[in-house]
Amino acid sequence: MTEIPEAHANIFEVLLVCLMQKADMVAAGEDRRTVECSRCGGQLHLALVGARKHLRMACDGGCGMEAME
Ligand SMILES: [Zn+2]
Repeated sequence: MTEIPEAHANIFEVLLVCLMQKADMVAAGEDRRTVECSRCGGQLHLALVGARKHLRMACDGGCGMEAME
């Protein structure tokens, strides 16, 4: 069995979006925002939750872009 490169690329894409948005949100003092999904063009909802500001991210465009830090 070999690993599937496309799956790895997807994980890196999600992580990259996560980290960039989180840094931007912290810098702007925002705890939630909605941006255009880079994968499907849908609405990507992001929120920083709790004192530790864990990032939650979910797309409502149905592309499966989501993450919970
Ligand atoms: Zn999407």
